Amino acid sequence: MTAIEGPDPVLVVGGGFSGLMAATQLLRVLPPECSVLLYERAHPPGLGLAYGTPNPDHLLNLRAAQMSADPERPQDFADWLARTVFDAAERAGIRITPAGTFAARGLYGRYLSEHIARLEARAGARLRVVRETLCDLELRAGGLVAHAADGTRRAVSAAILAMGNLPGPVAAQSRHQRDPWDAGALTDLDPASDVLIVGTGLTMMDAVATLRSQGFAGRIVAVSRRGLVPKPHAPVAAGPRPCFDAATRASVRKLLAWGRAEIAAAHQAGTDWRSVIDALRPITDELWTGLPRAEQARFLRHLRPYWDVHRHRTAPPAADTIAQEIARGTLVLRAGRICAVADDAVGAVVTVQPRGGGDTQVFPVQAILDATGFSRFAETQDTLVRNLLARGLARPGPFGLGLDATPEGRLRGTDAPLWAIGPLLRGILWECIAVPDIRDASVGLAAAIAGHLAPARQDRLKTVCHPDRSGSGAGHPSFKSGTGGGVSYRSG
Ligand SMILES: Cc1cc2nc3c(=O)[nH]c(=O)nc-3n(C[C@H](O)[C@H](O)[C@H](O)COP(=O)(O)OP(=O)(O)OC[C@H]3O[C@@H](n4cnc5c(N)ncnc54)[C@H](O)[C@@H]3O)c2cc1C
Repeated sequence: MTAIEGPDPVLVVGGGFSGLMAATQLLRVLPPECSVLLYERAHPPGLGLAYGTPNPDHLLNLRAAQMSADPERPQDFADWLARTVFDAAERAGIRITPAGTFAARGLYGRYLSEHIARLEARAGARLRVVRETLCDLELRAGGLVAHAADGTRRAVSAAILAMGNLPGPVAAQSRHQRDPWDAGALTDLDPASDVLIVGTGLTMMDAVATLRSQGFAGRIVAVSRRGLVPKPHAPVAAGPRPCFDAATRASVRKLLAWGRAEIAAAHQAGTDWRSVIDALRPITDELWTGLPRAEQARFLRHLRPYWDVHRHRTAPPAADTIAQEIARGTLVLRAGRICAVADDAVGAVVTVQPRGGGDTQVFPVQAILDATGFSRFAETQDTLVRNLLARGLARPGPFGLGLDATPEGRLRGTDAPLWAIGPLLRGILWECIAVPDIRDASVGLAAAIAGHLAPARQDRLKTVCHPDRSGSGAGHPSFKSGTGGGVSYRSG
């Protein structure tokens, strides 16, 4: 029998945590002749936006015990922390608190780097990491053609979009706006003049830590619609998983009433609201997908900010730092809407309409940091996403928060072999942005892709064994080096 030539690789776009998990699970379940091609444009593979920071005050917002990258070994990260030898600077990034151990995100990045090094060593030629931007995908018989920014085109059998949170529309409100993720852009600030952070969530907390580590000793003003800050974790265990009747499942108002009653009961029993919120954790996606669309919209309008600060909690040391800043008056939180930003030579004058009415507040700042999070899918200027939308290979999902896809991640509205994982599924799922969710989702995703590719492999096997059955002798156009169409393989 003739040896089977390897099929086109499976493409993973994005080498953050989602891309790393997708590649890991694909290599586990795909047959040995199948390979994985991973494109990452900016960060060391595995780290993405979140886990490359060297700042020891940028802490993980989940306990070490929840941050394993191995679905079969839930304590993998906690064990790694316990057995690894760290220098003094690294040890400063491990905070042991009554609520659990919280590590610096940079340490988690080191853990993921070791994971990918092992993966690459094991996979050999089956995994190719390419440091380049993937900017387009085109449908072709039996798969896709991937277009990279350097002009390379490659045939792939299927693709997983793992680009994380998409960049926003980039229309800076002010020429004094600076990037909160770019520590180097925050070194020259005047301590006598305020800095404005737009947003009061986890990104704001990071930005305050970055400003202080860069030596800024002046006042920081943070503004958001409600002025809510993430709550800290505490040593509270999750309550029992609740069971809802159909009427409660279909109504945000009824779910809220249940939550209020349970929280009151928790207080009576000497515990707190965290036990109630965490009891919902295993069924949050089930509840979200079961809500009628109008009820989902109601949740987004009225409850989301409250849910976010209670559900997406922060490490206690990070919360303490923010509380101390507020007590000292070096961080001022304002609840309201920014209605105007007027630039002048040295900064900007900001006008805020306070929440609940009252006189507008007008104040000068020297710099503005946008910590509002990330853009809606349809607003993004991301080239790959815009091309996929234009080609009809992708479409915005519910509320424009992410892509339209099945809960398992297969893109809807197209026959293309395209899947997504992680924050791109926001809206279809609710809990898809944190490590435990992405890690667990990658297992089902890889199995689905393996299932999709299996019949094609069987066809190829028959074709190789019985070349006369293939008709023209070419199941799909050849994309090997030097063939027509200008499409070539190139080693990463
Ligand atoms: C600051 C921050 C802190 C967080 N902390 C935690 C935490 O403590 N615990 C937790 O569970 N979750 C945390 N999260 C949530 C986080 O979303 C997930 O943990 C996870 O990191 C998401 O990974 P991702 O790969 O989907 O996205 P990203 O990390 O954003 O990675 C996407 C990658 O895709 C690349 N890319 C994008 N487009 C292209 C393209 N066209 N071509 C090639 N490459 C491309 C980008 O360069 C990037 O590296 C945090 C998120 C942020 C932003």
